[in-house]
This record gives sequence, C-alpha cells and structure tokens, in this order.
Amino acid sequence: MKFNTSGSSMSISSEIAPEFKHRLLAIVGEENFSDQSIDLVSGSYDASRHRGRPWAVVWPRDSESVAGILALAQQERIPLVPRGAGTSLTGMAVPARGGLVLDMCRMNRILEISIKDRVAVVEPGVVYEDLQKALSTQGFFFPPDPASGKVCTIGGNVAANAGGLHGAKYGSTREYVLGLEVVIPGGKSMSIGTRTMKCSSGYDLVHLFVGSEGTLGVVCQVTLKIDPKPTAFATTLAAFPSLEAAGRAVSEIMSCGVIPSVCEFFDSNTVKVLRQHGGLSLPHSEALLLVETDGIRQEEADLHMSVIMDVLSTCKTTQVRKARDRDEAQEFWRHRKNLGGLKNLLASGWASEDVTVPIGSIAQLVSGIDRIVKSKGLGLMMFGHAGDGNFHPVILYDRQTSSHEVLVHEAVQEIFRLGLELGGTLSGEHGIGMEKAPFMAWEHDEPSLAAMRGIKALFDPHNIMNPGKMAMG
Ligand SMILES: Cc1cc2nc3c(=O)[nH]c(=O)nc-3n(C[C@H](O)[C@H](O)[C@H](O)COP(=O)(O)OP(=O)(O)OC[C@H]3O[C@@H](n4cnc5c(N)ncnc54)[C@H](O)[C@@H]3O)c2cc1C
Repeated sequence: MKFNTSGSSMSISSEIAPEFKHRLLAIVGEENFSDQSIDLVSGSYDASRHRGRPWAVVWPRDSESVAGILALAQQERIPLVPRGAGTSLTGMAVPARGGLVLDMCRMNRILEISIKDRVAVVEPGVVYEDLQKALSTQGFFFPPDPASGKVCTIGGNVAANAGGLHGAKYGSTREYVLGLEVVIPGGKSMSIGTRTMKCSSGYDLVHLFVGSEGTLGVVCQVTLKIDPKPTAFATTLAAFPSLEAAGRAVSEIMSCGVIPSVCEFFDSNTVKVLRQHGGLSLPHSEALLLVETDGIRQEEADLHMSVIMDVLSTCKTTQVRKARDRDEAQEFWRHRKNLGGLKNLLASGWASEDVTVPIGSIAQLVSGIDRIVKSKGLGLMMFGHAGDGNFHPVILYDRQTSSHEVLVHEAVQEIFRLGLELGGTLSGEHGIGMEKAPFMAWEHDEPSLAAMRGIKALFDPHNIMNPGKMAMG
C-alpha cells in the first residue's frame, strides 16, 4: 500500500564514524562520497510513504569499488541500501536502519548489444528508457515497460522484478535476465547465469537475485535477453456495463488462443479522469478494456485482433471500437502511464495497491474490491494490467477526516485477504519492501519463510544488505 501521508516508519539515524569515512573515501574517492544534508535527504525516501535517513551516500563507479565497500561494511556491520532511481512504491529503497546508500546511477554504461546472441549487457544504473532507445535503433526491445521507465534503472527493475503494460504477452523482468554479476557482503564477486537462451546447470541463482530487493547483494552487471521489436499494432477499446462483465471478458480474451500484447483495465473513475484530464475520447462506462495486438506485419496484428473482436462480440459490451490510428493508440498508452499522477485530482488522500490474481478470478477480484471499498464509504479508482491479473486499486479518501485512515487500512487488508483467497499474491510488480513486510506470513507458509530467511543468512549473515525489507530481518 502506498499512502500520500507523511512517513510513519521509524528510522535510526546516526553520523558516520570518522575512521569509517576515511576508509570509505580511500575506496570511492571524495567525488563519489557525500554526508551533506542535501544528499542524505535525497537518499532518505523513495516514491512510498516511508522515510529513513542514511549516514552517507556513495556513488560507486565500478564493481571493484562495490566489492571494497561491501567488505568494509561487513567488517563494521554497517547497513547498506543499493539505490537506482528511488521510484519504489513500497519503501524498497529507503534506508530503514540508516547506514550507507549505494547510489548506482554512475554505473550507467550499456556495455554491449549483441543482436547475433540476442542479448544486451548493461551496468545497473542504465535508465530503462535509455536502453530501449539504444535497442530500438537495432529493431529490438526489452519488453517489461514499467510506467516509470523514463527514470527507473535496470538494477532497480531486476531487484524489484518490475513489470508493466506488456506483461500479458511478454512477462516481467525475470523472464529476461540471463546472467548477473553480483557482489555479496564481504566483497566477493559472483558471476551467475549465462548469456545462452537456455541453461540447465545447477541451482538458478539468477532468478533468486531477481526480485530480492537488494537484500542479498549488489547487482553490478546484467545480461538481458532482448526481443525483436514489433512494428505493427492493432488497438481496440471495449466498454462494459459492469466491472464484473469486464473481468469476465479478460478471462475470455486470455483463453481464446491469441495473447494480446496489452490488455489494460480501467474502472469508471479512471475513465472519468482520462476523459477530463487526458482529453481522451473514451465512452462513459462502468469499465473499459484497452486491448492491443502486435506483430512484425500489419496482417498479423490485424488477424490476432479479429480473433479478439470475435470474443468481444460474445461478451456483454456496450461499445467496441478500434483506435482511429496509431497516434490515437499512442495517446492511450501515454496517458495510461501517467495515471498514477492523476489520482490527486480525485481526492485529497489515496492509497494505491498492487494485488494480482489468477486470470480466471479477475471478475471476482474487481467486484470484490469495489464492494470492500464502497462498504467503508471510501472512493475507488482502479486500473491494471488485466491481461496478467495485476490490478492497482487506488482507495480515495479525505485526509481531513481522521476516521478515514483507519478505514483505508481495513480496506487494504481486506483486499489482501481477498486476493490471497482467490489464489493471488500480495504484489505483482511493486514488491514487498517495508510496506507489505508485515503481511508476508499471510501469503507464505512458515517452511517457505524459513527457507527464504536461510537463503538471506547464507548470503548476508550479518543482515547488512537492505535490512528491514521483505520480512527478512
Ligand atoms: C510513477 C511510477 C510508476 C511506476 N510504474 C511501475 C510499473 O508500471 N511497473 C513496475 O513494476 N513498477 C512501477 N513502479 C515502481 C518502480 O518504478 C519499480 O519498482 C522500478 O523497478 C524501481 O527502479 P528504481 O531504479 O527506481 O529502483 P529503486 O526504487 O531505487 O530501488 C528498488 C529496489 O531495487 C534495489 N536496487 C536498486 N539497484 C540495485 C542494484 N544495483 N543491486 C541490488 N539492488 C538494487 C533497491 O535496494 C530497492 O530494493 C512505478 C513507480 C512510480 C513512481
């Protein structure tokens, strides 16, 4: 859950000891170190409500410096928080227990793009969109497409297992990470995974690090599988008389034999905001689906869309229409990516969620969320990557009404329960961080949590890597 209220999380702040600072400076140099207030404040927050002041910020320039820092930090038991662009919505990048922020933005080189091998090798501070631009000139792309892509980094995407608009067809970051160079506490570098398209050799350490939220080590290099970039698209919007009807239609579409490249869901409040503030000509409706198919040739995208149109003709819709042209479709996607910022226009307070369920349970999830939120007299704006069962209900409330925050907490917990009862998960893409750590035991049984904590202790016996996250100590 993300609240737009002031931070409630405790931080333990302290100053950096002179001897430690001296040794750190010997590793990174004056120009890559700061304990100035302005940098400590910048490193103290991300896009969540959580806050925690670090003791210093360092900007490593290579994996050797990272190794030196991790050796020193382990010796001195100093907490470390790797940081990309700080766009986490769950407090993943907040220094919950002080210590050092390792801002990875200066390790931002695209080291290699090999079309022959179908891989890109990058440093973790590369911004998602910069990689896309470089790949695009060669007709390829890295598909996850988080809405924060203009600023978030590949290291952050890997650590959060980021997803986005194209998840329905292309999956999340995890599906694309082939190999990693990581530095673990104590300063050892590990080269894990491969640059091959398949690998059946030993435990899958790569996928253990993907989604580990910086709790196991620092990612210093990433080898990504890349995909040929589609060049032809067909986009359709379908309006529905109820949330449930739209939810059912998603299940029908996703089981019709054609996988759309995008299948986004909007409720009536989202449609209202997009009409009023995005200037989009969308039909008034209780729920809307925006569906896109893609391909290398237009015939391919159109053929796939015709199958989806056949499905929609059997669903309860009030209107179905194709995008007028590619410009109109691009406008839809641009405004979709900006939706997060528009919620402020609907209410003074909001809390946004990231619940994900199996596709067949979408209708129950969306109608259940609506029921929960309305039963508490709160407002709702709900959108999501329906094609992969990932929904972002935003609970709207009045910040001046003190009882509302309690009601919001209750509603969020009921939504978690509903999602889990439907076979879902606490997070489809935003991670656990500090925000959902208290609920990990709702989703994972005790042996699973014990196994996770055992893995954490193996890599990080003194719990210096991003402590206070994911309920890992
Ligand atoms: C407006 C907005 C829209 C968003 N839309 C989406 C979306 O569509 N899909 C989605 O998945 N997320 C989305 N997010 C959340 C966020 O952008 C993603 O989680 C993103 O992957 C975080 O990247 P970052 O570079 O900002 O990482 P940070 O927020 O800085 O860090 C995230 C985590 O990664 C760890 N980390 C960072 N770099 C490294 C490294 N080199 N080694 C080890 N650990 C590291 C950090 O310790 C932290 O645990 C959105 C956020 C905002 C504000």
